[in-house]
Amino acid sequence: MVSAQVEFRGVRDECVLAAMRKIPRHLFVPARQRIHAYRDEPLSIGEGQTISQPYIVAYMTEALALKSTDRVLEIGTGSGYQTAVLAEIVREVNTVEVLERLSRKAQALLHELGYGNISFHIGDGNSGWPNHHPYDAVLVTAAPEKIPPALQHQLKPEGRLIAPVGVLHQELVLVRREGDRFISKSLLPVRFVPLVKIH
Ligand code: SAH
Repeated sequence: MVSAQVEFRGVRDECVLAAMRKIPRHLFVPARQRIHAYRDEPLSIGEGQTISQPYIVAYMTEALALKSTDRVLEIGTGSGYQTAVLAEIVREVNTVEVLERLSRKAQALLHELGYGNISFHIGDGNSGWPNHHPYDAVLVTAAPEKIPPALQHQLKPEGRLIAPVGVLHQELVLVRREGDRFISKSLLPVRFVPLVKIH
């Protein structure tokens, strides 16, 4: 999977490649999907949600240019696969999921796999996770119409954020904070489940 789908398409960050070679992706998908776990596509993880295509996980992680000392916020824990990729690379991962059942399942699996550097929060990711901010990087795995301002404001002064943005037409957007300014760049068209708005 890593050489044919990820390296072949140009992902070069050794930390990302090593993390994805190590993590048993089949454990993150429901039993009936296991034989498809290493395919070049997103898969259903139940509750109407999906685990992203391996290449997109790699691409988004690489785009954040992570360092081993970073503290990262992830919005949309889902299966916990992207969480594991982050936890292999950085010092601390904070992950927020709105669906309690998915979060609990991911928590059990990531605990079983021995990760001790992940904090889980069940709640609305639109407000980020203010208790633990500021973050070196934020990775959003569900698509908002517009990037929630709270997520940008929880970045450190030199922080980076990546998110799929849009409704019918979505693009991956990379934001770089420079002091009080946020500089964004569109990277590529994508398709993610929506970031649910909670009122
Ligand atoms: N990173 C996940 C991808 C999960 S899909 C993985 O690797 O498996 C996106 C996830 O975002 C879903 O689990 C969905 O429930 C969650 N989500 C959607 N809206 C949300 C919100 N407002 N706050 C937090 N999580 C949300």
